Amino acid sequence: MRIPVTVVALLAVLLPGIMSAAVARDRYQLLSLNGSLVKWGAPALKSGATVSYAFAASAMHFPTARNCRAIDAMTSLFDDPAISPEVLDRETAAAFAMWEQAADIRFVRTDDATKAGIVIGVQAVPRGIAYADVDYRRDQDGGIRAIRQSRICLNPERTWKIGFDGDRTIYDLRYALAHEIGHAIGLDHAGPSGQLMSFRYTELFRGLQPGDIAGAAALYGAADPTVVAAPAGAGPAASVERLPADVPAVERPLTRMN
Ligand SMILES: [Zn+2]
Repeated sequence: MRIPVTVVALLAVLLPGIMSAAVARDRYQLLSLNGSLVKWGAPALKSGATVSYAFAASAMHFPTARNCRAIDAMTSLFDDPAISPEVLDRETAAAFAMWEQAADIRFVRTDDATKAGIVIGVQAVPRGIAYADVDYRRDQDGGIRAIRQSRICLNPERTWKIGFDGDRTIYDLRYALAHEIGHAIGLDHAGPSGQLMSFRYTELFRGLQPGDIAGAAALYGAADPTVVAAPAGAGPAASVERLPADVPAVERPLTRMN
């Protein structure tokens, strides 16, 4: 998403320089839309929420959306033999599970995309790599507004992969979905690098970083410690989360996430 951001992490404002290392490591940015923070559930920080999600089953149109105005079902992704419906389900569930383990937010899959909180599809007009769009209630004030629906749309003309292989021109599906889900729940980009919500795609890590977790907890409260890890690590992707030896620390701007 390319939305101007005016809100920065509170800690970074209060303690410039003093905790610079810690601030950088925990860096996050809450999404600010027309001057308001946006989140699921009650319009209050650190309040939990449960959100449904669905894959688009057919063409859907959102005429007022900034991104993802027209999305189609995911079926064209299955032209790639590496991506079956089962793989898509698994990778998507793993991406949502990352956020469930980071904060007091739960995701429930539903089959009815018209009623889902988060709708996932492919772009009817392919561009970029992936986008998210957040629609929120306009009738609330007080600096925080409730999200009504979020959409995530992937470019179906791009090649997607499962796991890392060091080629940062082809994106890992789980990573991209987790990043867009971050937007869909109210997080903006956390600078260029270092977090999953940073705008440069990296293969240095495949899970949420301290700033991602801090940002989600700022919106929804800390995760329930009794939540057990979802089967996110299942499948062939679990073994590829190690740092590839040949990945440079500074990445090319080519690999920008939206
Ligand atoms: Zn992004």
